[in-house]
Amino acid sequence: MTRMATPARTGLRPTRLEIDLGAIRHNVRQLAATTGVEICAVVKADGYGHGSVEVARAAVEGGASWLAVALVEEGLVLRDAGIDVPILVLSEPPVAAIPQMLAAELTPTAYREPFLAVLDAAGHGRGRAVAIHLKVDSGMGRVGVPIDEWPARVKQVAVSRGLEVQGIFTHLARADEPGVQTTEQQLASFDRALSVASKLGIDPELVHTANSAGSLLFPAARRDMVRPGIGLYGLSPALDVPAADHGLVPALRLVSEVAFAKRVAAGTPVSYGHRWRAPEDGWVATVPIGYADGVPRALTNRAQVLLKGRRRPMVGTVTMDQVMVWCDDAEPVVGEEVVLLGEQGEECVLVEEWAAAADTITYEIATQLTARLPRYHRG
Ligand SMILES: *Cc1c(COP(=O)(O)O)cnc(C)c1O
Repeated sequence: MTRMATPARTGLRPTRLEIDLGAIRHNVRQLAATTGVEICAVVKADGYGHGSVEVARAAVEGGASWLAVALVEEGLVLRDAGIDVPILVLSEPPVAAIPQMLAAELTPTAYREPFLAVLDAAGHGRGRAVAIHLKVDSGMGRVGVPIDEWPARVKQVAVSRGLEVQGIFTHLARADEPGVQTTEQQLASFDRALSVASKLGIDPELVHTANSAGSLLFPAARRDMVRPGIGLYGLSPALDVPAADHGLVPALRLVSEVAFAKRVAAGTPVSYGHRWRAPEDGWVATVPIGYADGVPRALTNRAQVLLKGRRRPMVGTVTMDQVMVWCDDAEPVVGEEVVLLGEQGEECVLVEEWAAAADTITYEIATQLTARLPRYHRG
């Protein structure tokens, strides 16, 4: 298979993502100051759509001592770019991926008996123990050693000859909801798991539990290291946990320009299904970005863009490649900058606004900005 040519290389398209690496560095420093512990910067899913290699470098410059990814493939991209800090793979890949994971010095998360057995054999075989992070499921209900299997799994590791437990961790299910008891319960269950391990002589150097929300809202979750993802990008873990309240600044701007302008009469319908009509005589601008770039179709008649430094409604059905903007009496000029996310002049459109309007979370908006958008990194 051949690799698709990246449109990012052509430089022809006016529509682009601009990523401020200064904001990433600032956010890492801010999270480190808030938590007082080591930062493991989570750059999975291409750095939440921001570009994993550039974000990883900026995070390390900002003071992150670890990086984390979801997939071995994502770790290999970072290694190929020459990034040499420790990289944690947050879940077990298929056993067949173990040789490549170890060859690239990616640190495995482990929890299944057969997976641990293969790692053990690999460590024993090469005469150097494999450093692993054991993951316990303290209540997330996704992956990790179930609590009732924890003593057996820890024993397996304790008697192994090829494994070294560098970390023990868990993942929080409701850290973005400070009002519920779940996080305290998970941490209590996690602490019991730690003491079971300790009794078997396993006292890892890195104990960690907190994602961004846990890092910001639960001091008891901070431990030796925290694993912020969304907060690195200056985005809110939940709409009622605003990133700005914690001194985090958004790194991303989504920018295009007016590609077409027309004057329409009151009542003129616009776009598929004619789901919008001009409320009066005025100007409509067309902007070359659509749902194939990651503008959710659910934003139809529910978002605003910035043009000439002021908010204008995006109108009519969001199409694959284009959206329309109602400009009232202000004539739009072909080539004028349109900002879909981020700042223009004094105004700013937040990813959080899109998430609310599309009934989703900031994570989904950021990670669904597609490869068709060229990424420009600055700072
Ligand atoms: C994705 C992920 C994180 C980062 O979570 P955020 O909410 O983005 O901070 C941390 N730990 C694990 C295990 C994850 O899967």
